Amino acid sequence: MVDLLLTPEQQRYQELARKFTREKIIPVAGTYDRTGEFPWPIVEAVKEIGLNCMTAPKEYGGPELDSLTISVIVEEFAYGCAGVATTLGGNGLSSYPVLIAGNEEQKRLFFGTLVAGGLGGFALTEPGAGSDAGAVATVARRQGDEYVINGTKCFITTGAMADIFIVFASTNTALKHRGLSAFIVEREREGITIGHEEHKMGIRASNTVEMRFKDVRVPAGHLLGREGEGFKIAMQTLDMARPIVGAIAVGVARAALDECINYVKSRRDGGRPLASEQLVQFKLADMAMKVETARLMVRRALALKGAGLPYSKESAMAKAYAADVAMEVTAEAVAIMGALGYSKDSRVEKLMRDAKITQIYEGTNQIQRIVIANHLLRG
Ligand SMILES: Cc1cc2nc3c(=O)[nH]c(=O)nc-3n(C[C@H](O)[C@H](O)[C@H](O)COP(=O)(O)OP(=O)(O)OC[C@H]3O[C@@H](n4cnc5c(N)ncnc54)[C@H](O)[C@@H]3O)c2cc1C
Repeated sequence: MVDLLLTPEQQRYQELARKFTREKIIPVAGTYDRTGEFPWPIVEAVKEIGLNCMTAPKEYGGPELDSLTISVIVEEFAYGCAGVATTLGGNGLSSYPVLIAGNEEQKRLFFGTLVAGGLGGFALTEPGAGSDAGAVATVARRQGDEYVINGTKCFITTGAMADIFIVFASTNTALKHRGLSAFIVEREREGITIGHEEHKMGIRASNTVEMRFKDVRVPAGHLLGREGEGFKIAMQTLDMARPIVGAIAVGVARAALDECINYVKSRRDGGRPLASEQLVQFKLADMAMKVETARLMVRRALALKGAGLPYSKESAMAKAYAADVAMEVTAEAVAIMGALGYSKDSRVEKLMRDAKITQIYEGTNQIQRIVIANHLLRG
């Protein structure tokens, strides 16, 4: 039977996240957007409701939530602020490689750190390796019982704040992407320095930095899976993470729609309420249909994942579609709200800037279309 409704437990999590967003995120979202400061008080507060590491298995002290439930929670956080949702989502993204390929000891180390309140980071992108993850130039050379990592990563979310990272490095450069490997690297390891911090258009409540690795030594036991499995682990991680980006996009789009609805109900121009204009009503209806469709696509991808079925194509579709919807709906919201929409006095100005990142990170929407087309043409 197809069940498109949330379970009572999922509804409880939705309510919990909605209340948290209303009380802890919305009142300060504008301030973080202006200052670009890291939202430490929110990071601290989310621990109190047990949602700081939603993917952590129960045996390591986590809530072990399924991905669909996580998407419901993330949509709520993003409704309040996509930058905060990105920050809070970092622990999920960085934990997927460990869930995919980690052994008992690695899971204990990684989830032990995050469940205790630590932050995780996912370090794949490099100056010469963005969309083409196989071009990673960071190397990890085996020396006795250790690997020595050298290289530079860029655009790493929470890079300056996180306690533990998944770092992708080549253990055999001649093999290109087949030589890529994934490592757990703690922040305190000698040789890690934080470089340039990005000053971003949107999601300004998230921290994005360059990271340099100079002769960083990690125990050989920090290699996830086997040498050469890094690319596969990275791609599986992105499959898992993309619908969550879709959920962020849905949250942003829904917030823009709600702002518009409130605005057109109260705005009177030339005596007539804007809400009475049929053109405006049609626009709102179109925006609402897109938000609903995007959410359904996110949940369908995650329902497939939950059922253990292939979902890579649907994951890419959900991310690309929801991100495009977020961009369209926020731009439409700015248009409907006119001069106020373009002003920093309105919330939709921030929403439009925040929406843009969902088309870029975790694989640009162009790359998602390549993934989708490859699936279509393969069959
Ligand atoms: C705010 C932010 C946070 C991020 N967080 C992280 C993080 O935590 N960890 C991490 O590892 N990375 C992170 N990234 C990096 C992000 O995943 C990359 O920026 C993204 O994958 C695109 O890579 P690029 O910027 O190098 O673009 P490029 O690969 O240089 O692409 C430039 C343009 O060319 C297009 N393009 C490239 N190749 C093709 C192709 N084959 N066919 C058609 N079009 C193509 C792209 O779609 C894009 O439009 C973050 C980025 C940002 C902006």
